[in-house]
Amino acid sequence: MRIILLGPPGCGKGTQAKKIVAQYGIPQISTGDILRSAVKEASPMGIQAKKYMDGGLLVPDNVVVGIVEERLQMEDCRQGFILDGFPRTLPQAESLEKVLGGLSMPLDCVVSLEVDNAALIERLSGRRTCRECGRGFHTRFDPPRIGGKCDSCGGSLFQRDDDQEATIRERLTVYARQTAPLIDYYRKEGILVSLNGMEEIQKVWGNIQKVLEGCSG
Ligand code: AMP
Repeated sequence: MRIILLGPPGCGKGTQAKKIVAQYGIPQISTGDILRSAVKEASPMGIQAKKYMDGGLLVPDNVVVGIVEERLQMEDCRQGFILDGFPRTLPQAESLEKVLGGLSMPLDCVVSLEVDNAALIERLSGRRTCRECGRGFHTRFDPPRIGGKCDSCGGSLFQRDDDQEATIRERLTVYARQTAPLIDYYRKEGILVSLNGMEEIQKVWGNIQKVLEGCSG
């Protein structure tokens, strides 16, 4: 099963991708996660990417396309994959099509999660992550039992630098301008399914499963 999860920051792509990984055993390829690791390691790519990420802007296409191209050639992607946060521009989508064509691994479907901006801002600004195990929380919707500490491992929780309100607004503007056109792109390809991402996590997950059961591959 080869799928893309498409939607604005905070729509639930990461949360749902983890459920797909657990259920179907295919890897999640999150360009955001890969870039954040590169920033943490202060690799040359990470140092370059950080400037864009801190401002809520997109990292240049050639950088992210290179990351994904390399990742898709790894053995574990033979059974399928979930792309989360990629593609984010039309040139990225076109490059992806070429790469997948070359690997004879066409996409099965693109699931677009739709959530309005007010809800996205509320979700992103309350989002917290455990520094140790990566578990996600939300100050209002899913608070930890002890403030600032992870329920699973006791690690300290942090807020992503780009989840500050001014940066969130910039990311949403960038999404509307550069990424939303991909909805039409994949609709024209006949592989787009739009789902209401405003519903509860489990409801959205049920709807995603129904879609994936209908996907070939
Ligand atoms: P995310 O975790 O998907 O919200 O990504 C966090 C940040 O990483 C984005 O705001 C961008 O700066 C960068 N990024 C992640 N994926 C991409 C992509 N496909 N193209 C360009 N920049 C990206």
